[in-house]
Amino acid sequence: MTFDASYYCGNKAFTLKQKTASMPSAGEVQIDVAYCGLCGTDIHIFHGHMDKRTGDHRIIGHEMSGVIARLGPEVEEFEVGQNVVVRPLIHCGNCPTCRRGYEHICQNLKFIGIDTDGALQEKWNVPAHTVHIIPDGVSLKHAALAEPLAVACHDVRRARVTKGEDVLIIGGGPIGILIGMVARNSGAHVVISEINEARIEIAKKLGFKTVNPKEIDISSDLRGITETKGMDVIFEVSGVQAGIDLMTEVAATRARICMVAIHATKPEVDLFQFFWKELEMLGARVYEAADYEMALNLLSDGKIPAEMIITDLRDLEEVEDALGSLTSDPTMLKTLIRVGHH
Ligand SMILES: [Zn+2]
Ligand SMILES: [Zn+2]
Repeated sequence: MTFDASYYCGNKAFTLKQKTASMPSAGEVQIDVAYCGLCGTDIHIFHGHMDKRTGDHRIIGHEMSGVIARLGPEVEEFEVGQNVVVRPLIHCGNCPTCRRGYEHICQNLKFIGIDTDGALQEKWNVPAHTVHIIPDGVSLKHAALAEPLAVACHDVRRARVTKGEDVLIIGGGPIGILIGMVARNSGAHVVISEINEARIEIAKKLGFKTVNPKEIDISSDLRGITETKGMDVIFEVSGVQAGIDLMTEVAATRARICMVAIHATKPEVDLFQFFWKELEMLGARVYEAADYEMALNLLSDGKIPAEMIITDLRDLEEVEDALGSLTSDPTMLKTLIRVGHH
C-alpha cells in the first residue's frame, strides 16, 4: 500500500512522492496525519540552513494532529481511532541530562521532522511515548496548534509568570503572540513590543497592548505603564541586539528574563543591570510532556482563538508555495497543511 509524502529535496524545493507503508514496530503507533503546521524552523530548512541535519531527501513537519490507525506490538496505552498529537522529541534515556529528568533537552536529542522523517506524509509511525490524546471537543485542525502552543507554555512556565505581573514580549511574531496568550491566561498584564506595523495591527486585533520602540522612548513609556517599576517578566523573542538592550533596560528589580529567540551571533548583554537590579536570566528550549498537556487544556477550555491564528490552509502538494508565502508575508501567523484524513 502506498500513500502521499512531501519530501524536502534541497534548494527550496519540495516534491510529492508515493511512499510504501510499513507496519509500526514494537512500541510504535501508526498515525493517519490530518493537519501539519509550518513554522520558522521549517522556513530555515526550506532556505537550506539546516541541510546538514535534514539532508536533501527528508519528510519534514513537526506540528501535527491525526488519528491512530494501527498499534505496533507492546503498545497498550492507546486505541485505534483516537485523535492525537505528537511531541516530536526522541531522547536517549542514558545521558546525564536524561537521568536528571530533563529528557526534553537530552544531550543526544533527536528532533522528529528534522533529524528523522516528520508529519508531512499521510501515514506516520512514531514512538508511543511521544503521543498525547486530543481532548474531546478540540478539532483536529485546532489541535495542530498544540506544538507551537506547548513552546509558549514551556516559556511561561520557565519564567514563573503569576497573576498580576507586568510582562513584556519583545517580538510579535507567531511565538511571541502565543506566549502573550498563555501569559495573559495566567493573569499577567501583557505588552508586546514590535516594529513591524502589520504585526502590530495583528497583536492589537488579538487584544494586546503594543509598543513600537522605533516610535517612542520605549523604556520611559513602559515605565509609565508600570508606574516606574519596570516589567516583572521579559521574553526575548526578537533575536536582535536591540531586543537584548531593551530587555535589561525595562526590567524591574528582580525581574526574570526568559531567552526564547535563537541568536545567530553572540549578543552584548548589559550585565551591570543583572547586578544592580538582581535580575535573573532563564533559558527555554522546546517543551516537556506537561507543556503539551497544558497546551491541549488551553485549547479545550477555548482560551486560544485558534481560527484567528490559522491564517493559511493548504494541501500537501502546496508545501513549497506555502513556505514561500510564509517567508514573505509578516501578517501570517500559522500555516496549516491538510495532509490526509480529517
Ligand atoms: Zn515549529
Ligand atoms: Zn539523553
